[in-house]
Amino acid sequence: MKIIVTGGTGYIGSHTVVELQQDGHEVVIVDNLANSTINVLDGIQGITGTRPAFEKIDLTDRPATLDFFARHKDARAVIHFAALKAVGESVSKPLEYYYNNLNSLMNVLAGMRGNGIPNLVFSSSCTVYGQADVLPVTERTPRHEAESPYGNTKVMSEDIIRDLMRVEKSMNGIALRYFNPIGAHPSALIGELPVGVPNNLIPYLTQTAAGIREQLSVFGDDYDTPDGSPLRDYIDVVDLAKAHVVAIRRLLEGKNKANYEYFNIGTGRALSVLEIIAAFERATGVKVNYKIVGRRAGDIEKVWADTTLANNELGWRAEVPIEQTLANAWKWQQRLASK
Ligand code: NAD
Ligand code: UDP
Repeated sequence: MKIIVTGGTGYIGSHTVVELQQDGHEVVIVDNLANSTINVLDGIQGITGTRPAFEKIDLTDRPATLDFFARHKDARAVIHFAALKAVGESVSKPLEYYYNNLNSLMNVLAGMRGNGIPNLVFSSSCTVYGQADVLPVTERTPRHEAESPYGNTKVMSEDIIRDLMRVEKSMNGIALRYFNPIGAHPSALIGELPVGVPNNLIPYLTQTAAGIREQLSVFGDDYDTPDGSPLRDYIDVVDLAKAHVVAIRRLLEGKNKANYEYFNIGTGRALSVLEIIAAFERATGVKVNYKIVGRRAGDIEKVWADTTLANNELGWRAEVPIEQTLANAWKWQQRLASK
């Protein structure tokens, strides 16, 4: 089946394209390469043996986006990854984030509706829950006011899709709320491309282990958690990619129970920053130079997923052990360093 993947040369998109191709789908990637490179197609081809079709289009360009959809009206589904995603940058550039993330979504939805492409899987985030009062969070946990313009684009995007699906009964959507995606494909042919100094824990950790950064700062050890460092639900990027394949299958087979559904995509397991460092050292035998510093502004203390709904309804569960995920992240880091 032909599937359109927006943002398909990006981190999560590229891993999903691999899993879609391995499941027998034909993929068309559309991306403006704002945060990815065309070489990612070589990595995908290296893993699957098939080079996906690619078109370089800025999805905020409405005429170009509508023209793209008109030329691909035989596609049966869209996975919409394309977005700007740097939380800190979104605070300093709110208009750029709202403009890019909301206009591209609305253009994609218009392209789908105008050309009879019925099925959408949307990249949402656990950021919509903020600091939840009750943990783990289920899909019925109330959303909190977003902490950043980026987070707000996810809340608003979920609602834009909901409002459209209310009136377009022939359209179907699934929002996947990702927890903390980490790792890389075990082949190390694709992974996360760091731009500048990483903000996220795992790229900072692997760059420190590789000697590119001197020291990893652990942001706080005075939280109300077992070892004082914050808790997150770290999900392997290949497990996450596979969740998209089963979500697509659910829509294509008409197994969805409502025409817009939400699923938490995590492991269901909370790990602290210090536990991640220890697991990395166990998995790779490489010591990480780290120092506990003060809390990072805006960080939440703890969040992890109740994945019962995804387990039962999608028949999906996270499988890759954390040590394997961290070993893959390290392998990818070493490959980047050798390039
Ligand atoms: P990424 O930056 O690696 O990939 C996003 C891709 O979208 C990039 O290749 C970029 O060039 C493209 N893009 C951005 N704006 C575009 C536009 N206007 N037109 C065309 N292409 C455009 O990010 P990722 O980590 O792969 O994230 C994918 C999706 O998942 C995003 O929507 C992100 O918000 C969401 N998400 C990511 C995380 C995470 O921690 N990585 C967590 C939760 C949700
Ligand atoms: N973190 C850290 N040092 C870093 C980057 C992150 O201690 O250099 C911590 C951060 O405080 C959070 C966790 O690692 O508790 C995950 O942070 P990340 O930015 O990767 O994801 P977030 O959950 O904040 O979106």
